[in-house]
Amino acid sequence: MTAMLEVKDLEVSYGKIKAVKKISFSVDEGEVVTLIGTNGAGKTTTLRTISGLLKPSGGEITFQGKRIDAMPAHEIVMLGLAHSPEGRRIFPRLSVEENLLLGAFARKDRGIADDLKAAYELFPILGERSKQPAGTFSGGEQQMLAMGRAMMSRPKLLMLDEPSMGLSPLMMKKIMSTVRTLQSQGTTILLVEQNAQAALSLANHGYVLEVGKIVLKGTGKELLTSDEVRKAYLGED
Ligand code: ATP
Repeated sequence: MTAMLEVKDLEVSYGKIKAVKKISFSVDEGEVVTLIGTNGAGKTTTLRTISGLLKPSGGEITFQGKRIDAMPAHEIVMLGLAHSPEGRRIFPRLSVEENLLLGAFARKDRGIADDLKAAYELFPILGERSKQPAGTFSGGEQQMLAMGRAMMSRPKLLMLDEPSMGLSPLMMKKIMSTVRTLQSQGTTILLVEQNAQAALSLANHGYVLEVGKIVLKGTGKELLTSDEVRKAYLGED
């Protein structure tokens, strides 16, 4: 079986700075795969490149057998790849519903109303406050909105950039359990996290990035119990 997403020898630079240095990884259909690593490891750069927001200086990205590394971002969304960015990037003056509808911009079908309903089922608070400006939401609620918006494009693969950032432990649990729910509903997920414990606990596979390189890979369980990960990322001796 070929992977749903295949990243091969990917290189990404900002001018002379090489942020991603020949990394390779893959995501199979139905999996949750996580990329973990500290600040500046290149996680966000990798997701932005897969989404088509940055162009690689080397390597290949293949999604469902199709090369996407030279494609514009809006075409990549239409293939079924959605991105919930770091820092949420919601539109604060627009209502919850308007923000959600922006996630469906690439679609012309008539299922959008059903998908709004599904987003409100996933996160009831979004439904209760659908007319409220999104800027009045808490960090956790904004994260729900960012995930709901990404789901509005009906993605086959959902990429989440640090969904737990700045959230209370309780809210983080809620977000992580939603990742599981989405997986059980058939969405494949690529999850970038600094919170290694949370991400590895639910991931089928994981990769550890350090200054632009993959230094470790394994199943979520293997990485959670590996000495290197425990020392470097879980704060254990
Ligand atoms: P974080 O969790 O802090 O976002 P990250 O693993 O996502 O970290 P990136 O944001 O991908 O890391 O950054 C990787 C490297 O690229 C860092 O050294 C960073 O300083 C650099 N970098 C990121 N964005 C830019 C930019 N727009 N211009 C120049 N360098 C950048």
